[in-house]
Amino acid sequence: MDKNLKDHRQLGQELDLYSFHDVAPGAVFWHHNGYLIYRTIQEYLRKELLSNGYQEIFTPVMVKNDLFKKSGHWDFYKENMFKLEVEDQNYALKPMNCPEACLIYSTKVRSYHDLPIRLADFGVLHRNELSGVLGGLFRVRQFSIDDAHHFVKPDQIQDEIKTLLLFVENFYKLFGFKSEFFLSTRPDKAMGDVKLWQEAEKDLEEALKSTRVKYGIKEKDGAFYGPKIDIQIKDSQDRDWQLATIQLDFQIPEKMQLEYIDNDGKAKRPVIIHRAITGSLERFIGILVEHFQGAFPLWLAPVQIMLLTINEEQEKYTLELVKKLNDLGIRAEADLRNESLGAKIRNATLQKVPFLGIIGKLEMENESISLRLRDGKDLGKIKIPDLIEKLKQEIDKKI
Ligand SMILES: [Zn+2]
Repeated sequence: MDKNLKDHRQLGQELDLYSFHDVAPGAVFWHHNGYLIYRTIQEYLRKELLSNGYQEIFTPVMVKNDLFKKSGHWDFYKENMFKLEVEDQNYALKPMNCPEACLIYSTKVRSYHDLPIRLADFGVLHRNELSGVLGGLFRVRQFSIDDAHHFVKPDQIQDEIKTLLLFVENFYKLFGFKSEFFLSTRPDKAMGDVKLWQEAEKDLEEALKSTRVKYGIKEKDGAFYGPKIDIQIKDSQDRDWQLATIQLDFQIPEKMQLEYIDNDGKAKRPVIIHRAITGSLERFIGILVEHFQGAFPLWLAPVQIMLLTINEEQEKYTLELVKKLNDLGIRAEADLRNESLGAKIRNATLQKVPFLGIIGKLEMENESISLRLRDGKDLGKIKIPDLIEKLKQEIDKKI
């Protein structure tokens, strides 16, 4: 890392985003500003989920081991699970959401008309990483994924993947990340019918081709239960990160005995697509903090505009304006301290607040503010209604 760049732990402290404490190794204490970023991303994703036909579910954190034995995760994951005994029963903290999504799927008889069924879950997950490898937001024991499971008929795989690929690409563009796609094919040790694998790999490749995204092939790098598409991004420091995956799964539907009634009246197994776009939200935010070096775009910034007074005569007017902006969903704060304007500007600039609004006697009389950007650029005086319109538009456009 360039010596002028700061890592997310240092930035997190300077910008009051999150902290880590010995009493909970590998778990994040989100402060108000950090949690605002977390929720802003989650809310954006939620809006997209709604318009893309998802249902959002929320499932228990503590589950009996029996579920993971049934789903097949126990054999592969038990070393990484936190286990506990309650009233002589064996429980674990869930390391993934899939088995519980399957339980919700199986609460009803599903017909071919109902598919695809897309269940999204931001559930809290725990995985037991050794305390020695824990590090800031990048390696944690407790986290959330923007997780979803699509239950589809085999002939729906291709369309479903196409929509997902475009969704992923557009999502990353929002942050200025370029994405690269990789198709991972059947490993030597794989479960299931080879013909099914070949068809699924063909479906994934057709979807990649038709969306015209740039992709490579990772031979034999698929999961044991199905082929997958990994998506890598490049950040502002030219580092590659693998965040999103889209995985096909023929095994869990079998193990969890999932069914749908097809148009010939017969019960058949759906295919599951596991997909995550940000992956762990904790890690994703760590990457964003370093990518932007804390200077978040307006829509993500915890404080979007900081109002700075010259003296106490403007206090009342400024606080009313803060309330007005907050009521409109614009995150505004005021610096009313008995400090020089220069000191207030310096402080807001260090906090990387996108807009600074200076309020003196003249501004008060004209119902305006003097607007500046965090890089020092002076935008001159602006009337309050015009300011509101400008901020709302830029927030909406995700600038
Ligand atoms: Zn899953």
